Formats: sequence, structure tokens, C-alpha cells
Amino acid sequence: MNPNILQTPIDYLKGVGPNRAALLRSELGIHAYQDLVNLFPNRYIDKTRYYKINELQRSGAEMQIIGKLMHLKTVEQKRGKRLVAKFIDDTGEMELVWFRGHKWIRENLKLNVPYVIFGKVNYYNGFSMPHPEMELLSEHEKNLKIAMQPIYPSTEKLSNKGITNRVISKMMQQVFIETKVRFYDTLSTDILESLKLISKSEAVLNIHFPKNQELLAKAQFRLKFEELFYIQLQLITKNLIRKQKVKGYPFTEVGEHFNSFYSNHLPFDLTNAQKRVIKEIRNDMGSSAQMNRLLQGDVGSGKTIVGLMAMLLAIDNGFQACLMAPTAILANQHYQGIQELVQELPITVKLLMGSTKTKERRVLHEELEAGTLNILIGTHAILEDKVIFKNLGLAIIDEQHRFGVAQRSKLWHKNKYPPHVLVMTATPIPRTLAMSLYGDLDISVIDELPPGRKAIKTVHRFDSNRLKVFKFIEDEIEKGRQIYIVYPLIQESEAMDYKDLMDGYESIARSFSQPKYQISIVHGQMKPADKDYEMDRFVKGETQIMVATTVIEVGVNVPNASVMIIESAERFGLSQLHQLRGRVGRGAEQSFCILMTSHKLSEDSKTRLETMVRTNDGFEIAEVDLKLRGPGDIMGTQQSGVLNLKIADIVKDNDILKLARSYALKILKEDPSLGMEKHKVLLYTYQQMAKHKNIWNYIS
Ligand code: ADP
Ligand code: MG
Repeated sequence: MNPNILQTPIDYLKGVGPNRAALLRSELGIHAYQDLVNLFPNRYIDKTRYYKINELQRSGAEMQIIGKLMHLKTVEQKRGKRLVAKFIDDTGEMELVWFRGHKWIRENLKLNVPYVIFGKVNYYNGFSMPHPEMELLSEHEKNLKIAMQPIYPSTEKLSNKGITNRVISKMMQQVFIETKVRFYDTLSTDILESLKLISKSEAVLNIHFPKNQELLAKAQFRLKFEELFYIQLQLITKNLIRKQKVKGYPFTEVGEHFNSFYSNHLPFDLTNAQKRVIKEIRNDMGSSAQMNRLLQGDVGSGKTIVGLMAMLLAIDNGFQACLMAPTAILANQHYQGIQELVQELPITVKLLMGSTKTKERRVLHEELEAGTLNILIGTHAILEDKVIFKNLGLAIIDEQHRFGVAQRSKLWHKNKYPPHVLVMTATPIPRTLAMSLYGDLDISVIDELPPGRKAIKTVHRFDSNRLKVFKFIEDEIEKGRQIYIVYPLIQESEAMDYKDLMDGYESIARSFSQPKYQISIVHGQMKPADKDYEMDRFVKGETQIMVATTVIEVGVNVPNASVMIIESAERFGLSQLHQLRGRVGRGAEQSFCILMTSHKLSEDSKTRLETMVRTNDGFEIAEVDLKLRGPGDIMGTQQSGVLNLKIADIVKDNDILKLARSYALKILKEDPSLGMEKHKVLLYTYQQMAKHKNIWNYIS
């Protein structure tokens, strides 16, 4: 057999002409035989199971039912007509619905004869099935039953042009017949044996034509493991290479600034998690490789002080450091906080923002270039080309999800060697996802909150209970606390959201009237100076209530604020809700979060609200978020090709991912260049993968 037969263009496959080939190419990226072989089913349908009508569930699943057509009627609707049939079995009745092809159906379907129908079951005032696949029971019984029928990925265009699942299944059979596919095994004997994996050939065969459930499960496991293993191998290798190649400045000294701060100026004892992370950072920066580390820690876990101590290390070694934040408010807050912490140390800290005055800037630029300015804190303004450091040794980026990767790398080019980079994020990314997305970054986690924090009490209240909520606000203000009330502001419906905000503000202002109560309001349509003024009044405790849109989401620190009320909470995503809640619970007092909603809630909204009420743990919340939204939607991951997985699912196959990662780590530790004889096949596969950017492309 010609070993390259799998490279044959798809046009040559029996049953595939130029038209179909063009469609397969454009819709599914199938160019050659091997691409078809590597089109893995999304799922399988058990065609040996028949449901009774009274067993149907409202899950929208595809089901197979035996019954009879009773009568057909045409129903006029806004656009066109629909044809509706009553379908019954001995347990109940349902409707079958067609929007097209009425003539054919009326002429060909028989009433009162048993049929086997198959399709998606919907529920709306009873069960219905649109455009069912139908087969006479007598015919159906003659056919061979496939226990697990694969369902392949498809597109609307493909099905409109008649390339149905059945057609793709036929092509798949044809490709296996023509090629008698033999797959070169792509994993080493060691791995195959130690994990008891089935061979590549067997796996590929059974993924398309499963002999039984057990073999299908084995085939899936083997192929998922392989996919995740090579991704991890690639990420870890990249990281190793970066560590060898990308030189950094070794910060060998733990000097005066660090030590003096540690022994004399720390305002509290560090948590064990903070100590551990500082040690990890010290180790990284002490080596001659550039640090590229992600610091994850829940809201309020104390990342800032860790960042500051890393900056002191840089200064001890004769370098400058910068800290970049996504908003002016946050940059300012960091500046104030850090200024206060280091006031007794002989170091200079300055703030740079878009709004910094030219005169001030000029001085700042000079000091920066002369090296007399030790720490620069700021917004995006730091990235401007005219901002030149004498010797930037460490760049810290706070709230990383607001910055793109490109911006991150811009900091690299401010020096001869790239500075060490520490990315701090308060939107915890589930570990599994972080491992895949940032496998080439090192990850530190602060998984412990400072002692004495009282867990925030979270409740869900309906709008109809607003009066009680207002009474609660009154009581808390009486105790001397401050209150946030946050409204959603979502771009598309900005005008309406803005009206909601103003209506809400007026109603609050009526219930909490001056002079007894003072209210701040902050929203996106205000001038920055006005925003700062209002925010400032709240920070100083001059106002008791802050009515705001989500501009306050990131970072604001007002320890005396103990109540967070989120209006239309059903419209916020989980991570946003968690971020908002993190604005309270920063002082010694018991804090509260009240999620206000209407009575109309989708299932997903309910899950989000329940999750918020149940837990304060950002990582747990992130896991739920990932399950609800899927990995593609999580902040910052959209651009990551890592998630274009062919068969594995980063959420569901978490355990396989961990396993794959541990194998990749073990192997690279023993044999970083994969030069050993027993790793030959891994190296070959890996190289093929790098060449074709596709790990499935190496077949003998
Ligand atoms: P985040 O991780 O959200 O950026 P911050 O660094 O702003 O958290 O810290 C939140 C608050 O906790 C700050 O007021 C900070 O001073 C305080 N804090 C940080 N670490 C500790 C600690 N070990 N013990 C007590 N308070 C701490
Ligand atoms: Mg922070």
C-alpha cells in the first residue's frame, strides 16, 4: 500500500465529487483522506433504545420512539405554514412538525401504520419533534441496528446541501475500505503499557465504528490523552526553552530594602500562602532566566504586598520596577497604598497616567532615565514609547485580564534583557484551564485569605422585597457603615441601562434624603474628574451610599463599606458578580452582598445566583463559570488556539489533562530533548506536529 495514500485529496474518494470536496474543504477543513479520518464524532446515539411518549424528558435530547401518525393538519403562521401531525403510542401523544416539504410528506407518509421516529424532542405545551427522521417499523426491523451511531460535526451549509450525517458516515466507511488504515503508533511503548492504552489503529477504528461501549470508551481515552499530552509536551518544552534562552537579570541579593521592610515596616504578619509565593518569586528572579509568572489570588487575598516585596528585591539589586493597573482609579489606589507602605524607606515612587500634566511628566521621565525613580506605578501610559527606564528589572501587571498579550510583551522591549514579569490576577482561572492556557507561564497561587476576615454573607432577594432591603440599608448606615449599589451597564443597551441607573438613583435619593444621607454616583458617562471627586467623597466617608455602574468593579478599596447591593444581578456574569462582591468584606465588620433580581430567571441565572449564595471561593466560582460558559468565553482565552481541541474537553476531561501533564513533565525531566531511544516516537510525532501545526498528521 502506498504509505501516502492518506494524503490523497478528498476529491478522489468514491462518492465525493468536486462539489462535495469543495464543501468539505470550506466547511470542515477536510482536504485529504487523513483529515476525514481525523474528523471525530461529537457524540453517539444509542439506536437500540426506544422511548415511550410518557418517558420523554424536557431535556431537548434526541430520542427514538415507536408509534403511529394519526392525522395531519396545516397551520398558518406569521411566516409560511407548518404541517403538524399527531403521533401516538400506547402511553400518550405528541406532535410532529414540519416547516418544509409538506407536499412530499402528505403524499408519502402513511396514517395509522407503526413508524420509528427519531429526532430532537422539544417541549412547549406538550412534546413535539420537528422534522423527525421517519422509517416504517417493518423496514426498520430489517435493518442492522448500530448500537452507537456516531454524530459528526456539521454546519448548516453542509446539511442544506445534502451532506448529512448519514453521508459523512458513508464517506468514513469508504475511506477505511480504500486505505485499510494502519496508524503508526504515536505514543511510546512505555506510555501505552503503563496506562494500558489501546493502539492508535484500534482507537481510530473504534472512534468511528465502535464495536461496543467498552472499546469506544478506550478509544476516546486514548485519543484524548494523546491530544492533551502533546499540548502539554509543547507548552512545557516552550517554557524550558524560554528559561534557557531568555536571559533575565539574576537578582541574587536580598538586600537592605527588602530586609528592612520585612522586619520593620510590614503592617501585619504575612499569611503562609503569601510567604510561599514570595519564596517562589525570589527563586525565579534569583536564577539567570527571566521570570514569567502568573500570580493568582482571590479578591482580598493580599497580592499587592507580594508585588511590593518583589519590587523591593529588584531595587536591592540595582533595578527599577513598575506596576501597571487597568484603570486610573486602581492605579491611584496602588500608588497611595504603596507610597504609605514604603514611606520610611529611602525609595521614590511616582504615578504616571494619561492625565499626568506635561510638566510633571517631564520631571518623571528624567528621573526614570537617570534611575533615581525606583518604582513607577501607572496605567497603560507606562507602555508609551517615550517612557524609558534606565534599567527596568521587574514589571508587575495587575488584573491581567484587561491587558492583552501584545501589551504584556511590549514591556519586554524596554530593556536589553526583558524584565521579570509578574502578572497578578483576581479573576481566578481554574487550574485546569490555567495549565493549558498558560502552561508556558509559571503559576503561583495565594489560596488563603488573611486571618480575621469574616466571610461575606450573600443572599438573593426579589425586587418585590425592596422595602425590606432599604430598611436593612438604613440599619447598616445607622451602625456607621457604607453601602454600594451597583447597576449593570451593558454596551448594547446603554441608553436603557443608563435610565435604570438614574431611576434607581432617584428612588434611593427619595428614601435616603439629604441632609441626613449623602449619596455618591459614579458612571461611565461622567467626566473622569467628576468620577474621581465622587469616588473620593465615598472613600473619605463623606457619603454613605455609592450608586454606580460596574466602573467600581476593579480594585477599589473602602474597608468601611460593608454592604454590596447588585441590581439586576441576573444580568451579570459569575466572575463579575464575584469581583463586585469583593469590594466589601475588607474591614473587620460583618459584610453582606444582596443580589436583587426580578422573578423571571433563566436556568443559568439561577445557577449563578445559587453559586454566589453558596460560596465565597473564587476558584470554585470560576469552575462553575467555566462549566456554564465553556472555555471559549472565559476572559482572555478567546484568542488561544489551545482550545481548538479535536476530541478532548478541557472541562470534562480535567482528570485526563492532569494525567497527561504529569506524564509530559516526567518524560521531559528525564529527557528534555526527547533524544533517548525509547522516546524516538514521541520526538518524531512532536516534530511532525510542529511542522503541520496539527498533531494528527503523522501516519505511516
Ligand atoms: P488583592 O489580592 O485583592 O489585591 P490586596 O493586596 O488589596 O488584595 O489586600 C487586601 C487587603 O488585605 C489590604 O487592605 C491589605 O492591606 C490586607 N492584607 C494583605 N495581606 C494581609 C495579611 N497577611 N494580613 C492582614 N491583612 C492583609
Ligand atoms: Mg488587587
